[in-house]
Amino acid sequence: MSPTNAEVFAHAQAVIPGGVSSPVRAYGSVGGTPPFVASARGAYVTDVEGRQYVDLVGSWGPALLGHAHPEVVAAVQEAAARGLSFGAPTTTEVELVDAIRYRVPAAELVRLVSTGTEATMTALRLARGYTGRDLVVKFAGCYHGHVDALLAQAGSGVATLALPGSAGVSSAVAAETIVLPYNDVDAVRDAFAQHGPRIAAVITEAAPANMGVVPPAPGFNAELRALTHEHGALLVQDEVLTGFRVGYSGWWGLEGLREGWSPDLFTFGKVVGGGLPVAAVGGRRDVMRQLAPLGPVYQAGTLSGNPVATAAGLATLRLADADVYRHLDETAARLRESVTKALANAGVPHALQWAGSLFSVAFGDDVAEHGVRDYADVQGSEHWRYAPFFHALLDAGVSAPPSAFEAWFVSAAHDDEALARIENALPAAAQAAAEATP
Ligand code: PLP
Repeated sequence: MSPTNAEVFAHAQAVIPGGVSSPVRAYGSVGGTPPFVASARGAYVTDVEGRQYVDLVGSWGPALLGHAHPEVVAAVQEAAARGLSFGAPTTTEVELVDAIRYRVPAAELVRLVSTGTEATMTALRLARGYTGRDLVVKFAGCYHGHVDALLAQAGSGVATLALPGSAGVSSAVAAETIVLPYNDVDAVRDAFAQHGPRIAAVITEAAPANMGVVPPAPGFNAELRALTHEHGALLVQDEVLTGFRVGYSGWWGLEGLREGWSPDLFTFGKVVGGGLPVAAVGGRRDVMRQLAPLGPVYQAGTLSGNPVATAAGLATLRLADADVYRHLDETAARLRESVTKALANAGVPHALQWAGSLFSVAFGDDVAEHGVRDYADVQGSEHWRYAPFFHALLDAGVSAPPSAFEAWFVSAAHDDEALARIENALPAAAQAAAEATP
């Protein structure tokens, strides 16, 4: 007989810190035992007890097409049969970079890495190497991976665990990061007025989705573009989460492309690997040419551009056509409406925040009235209503993200049947949120 989730979790906790390989998976902020996933297909995941859930986590982003898309799996199998890793260049990595550049031509040169964290870390080093400056500006609630310099007031797991940052980050490193409130152009202007000649880069999530979803106010990103230009700093647009998810050309396709501007550097991840470890940093040719072996900024990786992982990414991007993005947008719109309706019926004041097909819900009168513009709004919301809401969904076979500070992810495989299952579960979940106490 296969073990229960509780049995596996107990063993995992004895041998792995918190029983998980990444903190938010431990269900710390919602409580309870996380299902240990045995398999996943399409819109569904199945745990070791054989329970099936409609999945709204999507591996935190990569599963754009749904889990185990047959053509992606076939591409992976075919690549694996030819060898797992060579430590030498391959045609697949060049094809994947071509596919990225086709969608985002402003990524003039692209370097492949294995995780989003590596991508943002490399972007910062490049910005510092290129400008010869040391300071970096980030926004509270934006998560850019577990890079030392970027953990201050980060979203995602750092927000979920209510940590101000992380122990183990030296004060010297922390002192090189200026943290500003999101969507606050005046704060950015002030930072440049005070520290302009020392600022190497402003890094921002293209549309933040790690403090829940908080879309950039109209013109905010363009203003960051203007201010960084004016002061000789670089703009790093982190599209690890939004890239090739919120549209064919990511968030840049919805904004920069239309408005005729681009950041200096992009970071990509998640969807570009189709579920295997691939991420990328790309951007202006003159900046990217600073990377070794062309330039003095060192960066490398034993598994970078791995042939199996890049095959998964390439197959995913080839399949992610306009129809896929239309389906994602329509699916997300329908779900947002269903969530709002259920919460309204249960009398729960809330704000449904969204950016493209990414969305999240924040509870409380304040957010219902004013929306959520920054991390302080999120922290001030009634996020304690989320745990019972989440567990009611889980009990009904719907796996929402186990944190109020994470986005919900839909996929091309979320069909009427999957949506109906979610919609049937929502009234009880909304009732649980209504009855929640802090
Ligand atoms: N940047 C953003 C916007 C992210 O959402 C994430 C991960 O969630 C990262 C960077 C880090 O990526 P990874 O977890 O692959 O290191």
